Amino acid sequence: MADIHDILKKYYGYDSFRKGQEDIINSLISGRDTLAVMPTGAGKSLCYQIPALCAEGITLVISPLISLMQDQVRTLISMGIRGAYLNSSLTPRQIELAVQNAKKGMYKIIYVAPERLETQSFLDFACNQNIPLIAVDEAHCISQWGHDFRPSYTRIANFIEKLPKRPVIAAFTATATSIVKSDIISQLDLKNPFSMSLGFDRRNLYFGVYTPVNKTQFLINYIKKNPDKSGIVYCQTRKFVDEVANTLQENNISALPYHAGMPDYERAFNQNEFIYDKAKVIVATSAFGMGINKPDVRYVIHYNMPANIEDYYQQAGRAGRDGEPAECILLYCSRDIKINEFLIRKSGENEDSDPVELQKHIDIQLEKLKLMTYYSASTTTCLRKRILNYFGEKYIPPCNNCSFCDKEKEKTYKKINAYPSKKTFDIDSVLLERLKKLRVTLANRSGVPTYSVAHERTLQELAVYRPKNLNELSQIYGFGEIKIKRYGQDFINEIKKYENKK
Ligand code: ADP
Ligand code: MG
Repeated sequence: MADIHDILKKYYGYDSFRKGQEDIINSLISGRDTLAVMPTGAGKSLCYQIPALCAEGITLVISPLISLMQDQVRTLISMGIRGAYLNSSLTPRQIELAVQNAKKGMYKIIYVAPERLETQSFLDFACNQNIPLIAVDEAHCISQWGHDFRPSYTRIANFIEKLPKRPVIAAFTATATSIVKSDIISQLDLKNPFSMSLGFDRRNLYFGVYTPVNKTQFLINYIKKNPDKSGIVYCQTRKFVDEVANTLQENNISALPYHAGMPDYERAFNQNEFIYDKAKVIVATSAFGMGINKPDVRYVIHYNMPANIEDYYQQAGRAGRDGEPAECILLYCSRDIKINEFLIRKSGENEDSDPVELQKHIDIQLEKLKLMTYYSASTTTCLRKRILNYFGEKYIPPCNNCSFCDKEKEKTYKKINAYPSKKTFDIDSVLLERLKKLRVTLANRSGVPTYSVAHERTLQELAVYRPKNLNELSQIYGFGEIKIKRYGQDFINEIKKYENKK
């Protein structure tokens, strides 16, 4: 058998293994099931590819995303390793061809989507092949407690059971809490697995949570202070993405939107503009990032609180992959809780799954949201400690690199934060009077007292921040969903009219 160092040099061109890789490879070569938890960018792929090259037969790699499979297979082929993928991006004819090639022994590694394992034709194929190893990539998808639950992942074990000879099983993920880890082990039925956890800490990332009076203004100020740096702004909905991107553009910032509701070509275009530094900022939903590896992202700002800490850490973790300092900033307001609750409840609506299972799923998601909120809203410990503890890792603060431990930096951001509120001292009294009048009109229209329409402070904030759209309006004190719906547009129009006249 070829030496694994020689393979590393020959195919990958690397001189040495990174932390953890050699132990994982040796474990798999010795025939032992293995669970590897290594941070993004640590080099997990090679840990199953090298054992695949050392073994007779075809290694199957189960991967959740078409783009990831394509990317990996392209890389394999460019290194002279014979690989292929089977997923829904191929026509039935192309799949048939790939399977025929596989039968002739043309591939060492085949990437498959988990759904394919459930088809009879694939099972027939697999039963007639020598399959020494099955690698499950992004293995957290198997657990309801993971962040990208994929029901078809739970049926992988089913497939394996039907094979004439049980292959060695390897599971890989970047984020796994202890619950997810034990879920992976039990659901994949790993036998006495060798388990490797490299830990999650990314020292170069600064973590901050802020509750600016006006999130958009914070963003604008922050980005203008860091004009040459690439950054990602994550929003929780497509609507937020469009509005935030617009507002940034209006403020002469080269920002582009990215979300699943946009046409493919536009999305691809915007992504490229960002990757090639033509646009400095990409404003995106969680759809952005998987399979994208831009190493020099200097900041990730969350415009809304995400639904759970796994999502947060994964998205924030797209900053600073080159190991240089980078900042992860979460802009929190209590309305984010409502948005997430809404999205969680809605996520189950279209699925015709078992209502009991569905409720269980929703409960889990709500519980996770609670922990995310706790991270965002309470400021009594080191944020790094809080994140690492969540993933089951011990940490002794201070880290000196989060908004709790680094008071100096916090002051800077408080300043960015405070910048707009200074304007409170020069409230435009003419505008304020007009808003007060409008409040009376609206109260009369609805037959309610004026304070039900808007509080004094609300009017003051309106006069200071002058929101241009409903999204900006939602940042204003006192504007919940209902009030936005009832009166939002009226206030915005009034402010517009006033500004146009000036
Ligand atoms: P992960 O799946 O853990 O996020 P990848 O397997 O995609 O990471 O690897 C990330 C990058 O690190 C790839 O470009 C890979 O070629 C590189 N890499 C992996 N192992 C090594 C190594 N031993 N030496 C140098 N580069 C490596
Ligand atoms: Mg990977």
